[in-house]
Amino acid sequence: MRSARIFVILLLLLIVTFAGCRTNQVKDAGTPLAGKPGSTAQTEKKPPNTAPSLNAEKANGNLKVQFLDVGQGDSILIQFPDGKNMLVDAGPPESEQYVVSYLEKQGIKKINYLVATHPHLDHIGGFEKVLENFDIGSIYMPKVTANTKAFENALLSIEKKGLKIKVAKAGVSVIDQDKLQVGFVGPVDTGYEDLNNYSAVTRIQYGETAFLLTGDTGTLSENQMIASGANLKADVLKVGHHGSSHSSSIRFLAAVSPQYAVISVGVGNDYGHPSEKTIAKLNKAGIKILRTDQLRTIVFSSDGRTASRLVS
Ligand SMILES: [Zn+2]
Repeated sequence: MRSARIFVILLLLLIVTFAGCRTNQVKDAGTPLAGKPGSTAQTEKKPPNTAPSLNAEKANGNLKVQFLDVGQGDSILIQFPDGKNMLVDAGPPESEQYVVSYLEKQGIKKINYLVATHPHLDHIGGFEKVLENFDIGSIYMPKVTANTKAFENALLSIEKKGLKIKVAKAGVSVIDQDKLQVGFVGPVDTGYEDLNNYSAVTRIQYGETAFLLTGDTGTLSENQMIASGANLKADVLKVGHHGSSHSSSIRFLAAVSPQYAVISVGVGNDYGHPSEKTIAKLNKAGIKILRTDQLRTIVFSSDGRTASRLVS
C-alpha cells in the first residue's frame, strides 16, 4: 500500500518535471534578443506557465550547464548525468560568495573537475573561496603563469589543499564514456603573447548535443583549433572573451555552428563588451544570443538529443 503511494508520487514528480522542461524550452523563444527568426522553438505556441523551477532540480539523466551571473567574468557549472560536476572558472573576486552560495544551493559538496581557463582575475578571482569551501577532485589549468596576486593566491590555495595541477591543452580528455565525452580542444600551441590565447577550451559532448566553452580565447587560437581538425561543433557556444572583437571570427563561428551563443558579461562594463561587431556576426549567422547581463544566470539542459534552455 505504502509502496503504491510512493510510486504515484514519483510518477507525479516525473510528469511535472517533463511539463516544466517543455514549458521552459518554449518560453525561451520569447527572448527579445533572438537571432534570426524561424527556429522551431519560435514557432511553437506558448503553453500556460507551470512551475518551471522543478525541472532544474530533477533533471535526472540529463546534462545541465549553467552560466553563472558573475558580472564581468566567467563561471560555468556543468552537472553530469551521473551526479558528478565540473566548474569552469570561478568568476571575479566580487562574485566569489555568489559562486559558493550557488553551488551550495545545488547541494554540491565536491567539485570533481575544476578548470581555470587562464590566469586572469575575472576567471580565477573566486578560486580561493571555491577551494576553501569544496572538496576538489582534479584541477586543470593551461601551462602558463601570470605575475599577479590573484594567480599567486590561487596557486597557494591549490598547494594548501595538496592538489596537483593537470595541464589543460588540446587533446586532453577529462571524461570518456559511452554517451559523454569531455575534453580540451585548446590551447593547441604555447608561447602566445596574449595570455587570452592560452585559454583552456572545453568541449562537452553528451549524446548528439555539445557545448563549447572558450574562456577568453582569441582569433589566433581559434584558427589553430580549426587547423587542428578537432571537432568544434556545438549547440551552445560560450562566446570567447565576453564578446570582444578579438574573438569569434566568422570562420570559427562557422566551424562551431552553434544554435545558441552565451555571452558572459557584466552590466555597463569598462571594456565595451560585447562588441557590436561580434553581435552583428552572431546575428548574421542566425545564432541566438543570450547574455548574462540581460538574463542573469543562464541554464541549459540536454537529454542527449536536444539542448534546451531552462527558465526559472
Ligand atoms: Zn575574461
